Amino acid sequence: MRVNITMECTSCHERTYLTNKSKRNSPDRLELKKYCPRERVVTLHRETK
Ligand SMILES: [Zn+2]
Repeated sequence: MRVNITMECTSCHERTYLTNKSKRNSPDRLELKKYCPRERVVTLHRETK
């Protein structure tokens, strides 16, 4: 039940991280604070399709 997802920076929309998640544990869109190399700051990253 694990699916691959892409994490996109909500501020500059850079797609920085590939990861995976469990559909059972997190059926909604993931939001994580991640370091954005483009902006060089920690920003909120959201799961994309
Ligand atoms: Zn960014």
